[in-house]
Amino acid sequence: MAELFIDGRWCEPAAGAVRTITCPADGRVVAEVSEGRREDTVAAIEAARHAFDDGRWSSRSPHQRGEVLSMVADLLARDHDRFARAESLDTGKRLAESQQDVADVIAVFRYYAALISTADPVRRVDPGMATVTSRVIKEPVGVCGLITPWNYPLLQAAWKIAPCLAAGNSLVFKPSELTPSTAIMLTAALAEAGLPGGVANLVLGAGPEAGAVLAEHPAVDLISFTGGLATGRRLMAAAAATVKRVTLELGGKNPNIVFADADLDTALEFALTAAFLHSGQVCSAGTRLLLEDSIAPEFTDRLVVRAEQIRLGGPFDPRAEAGPLISAEHRDKVAAYVAAGLAEGAELRCGGAAPDDPSLSPGFFYRPTVLDRCRTGMTVVREESFGPVITIETFGGASATDLERNVARLANDSIFGLAGAVWTGSEERAQRMAGLLRLGTVWINDYHPYLPGAEWGGYKQSGVGRELGPTGLDEYREIKHIWHNAAPAGVGGVG
Ligand code: NAD
Repeated sequence: MAELFIDGRWCEPAAGAVRTITCPADGRVVAEVSEGRREDTVAAIEAARHAFDDGRWSSRSPHQRGEVLSMVADLLARDHDRFARAESLDTGKRLAESQQDVADVIAVFRYYAALISTADPVRRVDPGMATVTSRVIKEPVGVCGLITPWNYPLLQAAWKIAPCLAAGNSLVFKPSELTPSTAIMLTAALAEAGLPGGVANLVLGAGPEAGAVLAEHPAVDLISFTGGLATGRRLMAAAAATVKRVTLELGGKNPNIVFADADLDTALEFALTAAFLHSGQVCSAGTRLLLEDSIAPEFTDRLVVRAEQIRLGGPFDPRAEAGPLISAEHRDKVAAYVAAGLAEGAELRCGGAAPDDPSLSPGFFYRPTVLDRCRTGMTVVREESFGPVITIETFGGASATDLERNVARLANDSIFGLAGAVWTGSEERAQRMAGLLRLGTVWINDYHPYLPGAEWGGYKQSGVGRELGPTGLDEYREIKHIWHNAAPAGVGGVG
């Protein structure tokens, strides 16, 4: 087993450990991969430091770096199907979803290839002195530690690796230990595209053993993490000791708001997609459904009928609408959130258990679940279950303004602020609501789309910083002011 990639070479972990990867849809063994530990990550950090300090990548022109990223996109396109199948086997997600993920990943590499090739990094400031020029330039931060979760393994990797490399950094990438296959393949593609050895290093292994040192090590300049809130807090605290740059993409508890004036048929279809895509294992999943009082009973009844019809199945079942959860432990966690909701007064309208279909029993499936009569204070409404669980709250108001302010207050009553949607037929209301919601992304009459050129990230405890867009590149750059006095003259003393 030699799936660690350190200093341009595939290598075995120092301790020789191995991890078996299984498909969560049916338990089949997908791969046996190297399991790294702290000493492997330290070796990778040292390689990345050396590669950065000798300028083998950062000294290449932005255009040359862009060409390598374009080549990575070409290689991903060439191996599109292989990447998609590997992603589906590791995560259990439907092949169609993985294919979409790979297409999105290609678009992200192309976006940053174009952005770095065209962006002018120099800004001139007028110092008001004829003999002085003042320039502000952007430079790579240095060595970056990148840590990603299991729900969108390739996509989350691309959101970090593409801008990180575009900016000229070196990196150590630690993907989730549950889903390493596409990380290995992507690392191979980076090498094939001509990235110099030592610039992009891959370590595999569990978080505390292989990942934690990235936040602690003084040779790492920046940590970019996507994952759970508790891990993010831990990493931010660890990074404080060396004052690293920190980017965090954490959880969400995302409101999906439906007004009575919306196209209710479309809103209903999207309420299902919002919450049940990838069985709710999506940071931006619209699991908090907020319905205007007058439509709530009928909308909920129709939602329950449709939720009960959702066909569960493995990644290669073309008729499946949703797949399994990632693990037995995760399914237990989702079930515990549903139980907590019921104990706190929610009404179970459908789901709330594993399916009884014996053909699905080797997998970690959980039925799409709708909990009615929820209140904002309930645990299942406040915390991220990261499963296929919709909670329903209702809202009203004496006037149009009241209605909007009431639902905005409900939606914003959360420690999270990642994303959410508003369904309404009124353009003015849509714009007012977009202004009222404390969220990093607001969709109007849609759910889930994102663009490589538009920033992604969260308000409040959903994170720190942004990925994608120009800001996603700037997260990986330092800013330097260069003051150049062409005619220095003494000032007579200390000035
Ligand atoms: P997690 O926090 O358990 O793990 C994420 C990564 O961190 C994994 O690679 C893991 O090995 C590593 N890790 C765990 N403990 C660590 C430690 N002590 N030190 C260093 N690394 C450590 O999260 P998860 O369960 O893999 O992912 C699900 C979470 O990710 C959800 O909360 C979801 O909302 C979030 N997420 C957020 C976004 C976003 O864009 N905001 C996107 C996807 C997922």
